[in-house]
Amino acid sequence: MRCPFCQQDHDKVVDSRVCEDGMAIRRRRECINCEMRYTTYERVGDFTLKVVKKDQTREPYMREKLRRGVAVACSKRPISDEQIERLIGDVEYQIIREGESDIESMRLGQLVLDRLKELDGVAYVRFASVYLNFDEVRDFVDEISPLLQRERSAEAEEV
Ligand SMILES: [Zn+2]
Repeated sequence: MRCPFCQQDHDKVVDSRVCEDGMAIRRRRECINCEMRYTTYERVGDFTLKVVKKDQTREPYMREKLRRGVAVACSKRPISDEQIERLIGDVEYQIIREGESDIESMRLGQLVLDRLKELDGVAYVRFASVYLNFDEVRDFVDEISPLLQRERSAEAEEV
């Protein structure tokens, strides 16, 4: 962004904080050229998050795409649409709060997984198998197998 004082496009962010009840980020910037400080606001309405994929290409973050992925993982599980919406809202809020404009797809997936793990073990494993590649899933197995066994025995009881 161009400095409003000297018009140079060379600044650093010296402070970044959430305001407007989580709906905006206020950034204090300092021009590296003239050392003047100014403030910019980034609002959720202009939320321009980019997802960095494994091959390092970027694509705009699409809430609907993420929501669909989570919904598929949660299908036939006791999880309401409202819970899915809240989960995605929480993930977005965390990213916004951290002030990032790019997020690695793996990290985005991990943020979802952290929350799915608390909601439902089966949805968690389903989502992990889509989001992570096979080696990573294998690394996961130690962590999730007690979870899976618990789900399996719960399903057996339902039959
Ligand atoms: Zn300047």
